[in-house]
Amino acid sequence: MSMDLTEPDAGSDLQSVMLKATPADDGTWRLNGVKRFITNGDSDLHLVLARSEEGSKDGRGLSMFIYDKRNGGVTVRRIEDKMGIHGSPTCELVFKNAKAELCGARRFGLIKYVMSLMNGARLGITAQSVGLSQAAYNEAVDYAHSRRQFGKPISEFPAVAEMLANIKAKLDASRAILYETARFVDVYKIWEQIGRERTLTLEERQEMKKYNQLADAFTPLAKGFTSEYANEKAYDCVQIHGGSGFMRDYTCERLYRDARIMNIYEGTTQLQVVAAIRHVSTGTYLAQIQEYAKAEYSPELKVHVAKLEAMTALYEQAVEQVKAAASPDYLTFHARRLVEMAGYIIMGYLLVNDASRCPELFMNSAKVFVNYGEAQVARHHRFIAGFNPDDADAYKA
Ligand SMILES: Cc1cc2nc3c(=O)[nH]c(=O)nc-3n(C[C@H](O)[C@H](O)[C@H](O)COP(=O)(O)OP(=O)(O)OC[C@H]3O[C@@H](n4cnc5c(N)ncnc54)[C@H](O)[C@@H]3O)c2cc1C
Repeated sequence: MSMDLTEPDAGSDLQSVMLKATPADDGTWRLNGVKRFITNGDSDLHLVLARSEEGSKDGRGLSMFIYDKRNGGVTVRRIEDKMGIHGSPTCELVFKNAKAELCGARRFGLIKYVMSLMNGARLGITAQSVGLSQAAYNEAVDYAHSRRQFGKPISEFPAVAEMLANIKAKLDASRAILYETARFVDVYKIWEQIGRERTLTLEERQEMKKYNQLADAFTPLAKGFTSEYANEKAYDCVQIHGGSGFMRDYTCERLYRDARIMNIYEGTTQLQVVAAIRHVSTGTYLAQIQEYAKAEYSPELKVHVAKLEAMTALYEQAVEQVKAAASPDYLTFHARRLVEMAGYIIMGYLLVNDASRCPELFMNSAKVFVNYGEAQVARHHRFIAGFNPDDADAYKA
């Protein structure tokens, strides 16, 4: 199967999709136009986002269609020559009177179905990013233990050891937020399923709503962070390999190229921030952080839990300061910083929780990640607190 959304002039902005869907006499539809960057574009079945409402300009004029390759009408005009993920063909498709069937209700293509499809796909890319991060960590550790310089393994040099500790901490943090997000999705989907079999009670409906909102808030956070970390870890992995890392002989060179797409497809990191920022404004992240703060953690992590509390106070101050300006532009300007602050605190708590339950696996990562996150949160807080709104023009292209 493939998911055909992107067009030459409609990437992040899917409201601009122009591929045209016209109703035919037999109740089916005909599709005409071009789709670009479609993974597995020569597939048997395609889900295609197309403009079904003539004269419409925005997302409300788009519907979802199912195209079956056996009906013909679609040609692969080009297979892209990519930097990485060479095992996956990425295609440009031309639709010429391609017969297709409407999927679901008209005009719900973008506003309902793509949103739901994307949330699932974003969780998939989060898992892909965790997988790549694990591979980068494995490669980096193996090489650092076997390569000797100045008479000892390079893993014994503090500069290399710290890189390895940071890679491992970010890997464990990535996996923790992946599982937490998947848990939220599971809970609300189970209620959805039960709701199809019988009427839910008020409490059950409220729980479903709560977990749906958490899944909505955590999915862009998880995708944004883990895909950026996959890149950082692949970069550090090449660095640990030195000159050998630049050679095609080593796996890390491929990981470095493959990682580069993860913070681009299924919505770039900038678009994950666009999705996440409203959960900063509405307090979804803060409420969940406060839930985490109520739990009991290992006494060994007392200092780190205190750091997480201090980070939360800085986050709250920064959010209040940005909200007080009551300017959407100002909020957009600081959005990534605010979303990242929330992410460092959330992943910090998740790791502190993991380490409390299983110290032999997670204690080091919890300490390293909280120390790292503390510095990042302080940096963002200082930028926001010290920012002079008169400087805003200096950031315009
Ligand atoms: C290998 C590969 C496989 C893909 N597979 C599929 C697939 O199977 N199906 C499919 O439909 N698509 C697929 N895509 C397309 C992919 O989802 C898009 O490339 C991606 O969403 C970005 O769109 P774009 O390339 O048009 O970039 P643009 O939207 O032009 O973005 C360019 C830059 O502008 C920034 N930007 C844009 N809008 C905003 C905003 N509002 N705020 C802040 N910054 C912004 C972006 O973050 C980015 O840095 C694939 C792409 C690749 C490379």
